[in-house]
Amino acid sequence: MPEQPPRSHDFDAEYAATDVGRTTFPFTWRDSDDGLGVVVEGHCPRCHGRTRREIRRIVPGTGTKGAPSVPSWLRLRRNPEAATDQAMDQEVLLAERYFCACGHPHPNRPSDGHAGRVGCGASWVLGALARIGAR
Ligand SMILES: [Zn+2]
Ligand SMILES: [Zn+2]
Repeated sequence: MPEQPPRSHDFDAEYAATDVGRTTFPFTWRDSDDGLGVVVEGHCPRCHGRTRREIRRIVPGTGTKGAPSVPSWLRLRRNPEAATDQAMDQEVLLAERYFCACGHPHPNRPSDGHAGRVGCGASWVLGALARIGAR
């Protein structure tokens, strides 16, 4: 049951690196198709475009040495459906910062902008996040 967008996508919004703060827009998260990551989806609080972000989990003991910046939460859970693990995942997802990836090249977007992050430049943290699609 998809959420209705709060408003239609504002294609004319000019690109601006904007910290929206904590949004009240509803976001969802689910396992990625291969089960090795999570997908966070919702609508950008600034331009209202549909945006998603996939975050890969780290398999413990595989190539994470020398990467201290890797968040410790991003571990492959032994039992992803366990309520305690889900609560941990959700807690960290709520602490993450998200960037608009609506896919629309908003006006005045800098040409040296982040590749693969085409959007209006907004960033935010989540206020509402719901787990969907549990296997
Ligand atoms: Zn946006
Ligand atoms: Zn947009």
